[in-house]
Amino acid sequence: MYDAKSSKAGEFICHDEILDTLRYADENRANARLIDSILAKARERHGLTHREASVLLACNLPEKNQELFALARQMKLDFYGKRIVLFAPLYLSNYCVNGCVYCPYHQQNRHIPRKKLTQEEIAREVIALQDMGHKRLALEAGEHPSQNPIEYILESIGTIYGIQHKNGAIRRVNVNIAATTVEHYRMLRDAGIGTYILFQETYHQESYALLHPTGPKHDYAWHTEAMDRAMLGGIDDVGLGVLFGLERYRYEFAGLLMHAEHLEAVFGVGPHTISVPRIKAADGVDPSNFSNGISDDTFLKLIACIRLAVPYTGMIISTRESQSVREKSLELGISQLSGASRTSVGGYAAAERPTDTQQFDVSDNRTLDEVVRWLMELGYIPSFCTACYREGRTGDRFMQLCKTGQIQNCCQPNALMTLQEFLMDYAAAPTRELGEALILSELEQIPNSKMRELASRHLEQIRAGERDFRV
Ligand code: SAM
Repeated sequence: MYDAKSSKAGEFICHDEILDTLRYADENRANARLIDSILAKARERHGLTHREASVLLACNLPEKNQELFALARQMKLDFYGKRIVLFAPLYLSNYCVNGCVYCPYHQQNRHIPRKKLTQEEIAREVIALQDMGHKRLALEAGEHPSQNPIEYILESIGTIYGIQHKNGAIRRVNVNIAATTVEHYRMLRDAGIGTYILFQETYHQESYALLHPTGPKHDYAWHTEAMDRAMLGGIDDVGLGVLFGLERYRYEFAGLLMHAEHLEAVFGVGPHTISVPRIKAADGVDPSNFSNGISDDTFLKLIACIRLAVPYTGMIISTRESQSVREKSLELGISQLSGASRTSVGGYAAAERPTDTQQFDVSDNRTLDEVVRWLMELGYIPSFCTACYREGRTGDRFMQLCKTGQIQNCCQPNALMTLQEFLMDYAAAPTRELGEALILSELEQIPNSKMRELASRHLEQIRAGERDFRV
């Protein structure tokens, strides 16, 4: 029985409700009147239900799809402006006791070298990341109770936050580790993490069991109820995601939105972010063996539909995607981008990109400076902002600011100030020149005059050598 408020995975992600939703979406995919009414509701900017959004995803009327894309573009601009937040993943360890068939770190893979960073090696990685200009990381680790216990993760977070090198500093550490207990989530919260991210991989329970044949991750309910435990542990920014390619994308889309509705219904706040990874080639993993791969066009429509369904949830795209797909995805809804990623354990301190312990192939191999310049050439403002959670603007407090539009007075100054820091400390000359001009024109876009003046003053202070201002 479907119940968004239930604490049981099988009830808040209800298989029958998803099947009914897909049937309803199929029946109405060309129902112009219904689609118009759903688009009208989306225009009110309060989001859509999984049923409504599923009709839009299924819609096969070209002119309605055009409207849908135009609305996604407009909403992206209205809520996120031109800002794109940048981050990098940091792989701590590829020891893993799970058997995920799509992941090269699975326990049965005997020929991939296993590696776990020492605290000294983590410090070297962090310095390499700081030297690029990164301020935000996403920690990644396999699940291994004895090699990667929670104490190791906590110690690593402490090491990362503790490294001050030149003007560098990692100011926000997001964490992507396996589902764990409320107690462990509380420890992560106390360690000052930003978002807790956990990809569902697939919401389809039977496929989930086949794709995760062994290890603790095999337990669908334990994995699916993880965000509830994270929130009970006091983490109020959580990040959802599906690994597209494993199951039928429309099933996953409905499940993903039901998960968001569940968090909203129970905790009063939906997910902080949604990630949209697609399966990639990796050691022993051939994406063509997975029959549910989606085309770029379908992928972009998915992003647009998520944008309409959950307007206040940030959306993340990684270097799994090529430059051209990333470019198209930005205008439709993506608000966070990884840059210069290395998906191997210890990859950043190495002179050349290592591939031996790599989790998946990277499609976008550009440097951070190249990504920053490219974003500015496209008219975006690259942002290294980490202000919200450091100012206590998390969970429902963050969402409230988004809903009233007040967030624009914080995000725009913070984006410009952190970009100014990047230009001063890390950028190549052409990037800096482009950025200085951009900051001047974008300063005018801060709606509140007091905030504009404050930002202008802080920008001067940054040019004079001071760092780490936030509003
Ligand atoms: N070990 C943690 C867990 O069990 O949830 C998560 C960390 S894992 C390093 C990060 C994510 O990478 C996984 O959740 C999965 O979705 C994704 N991933 C694994 N193999 C992949 C592949 N071949 N291509 C693309 N993404 C992959």
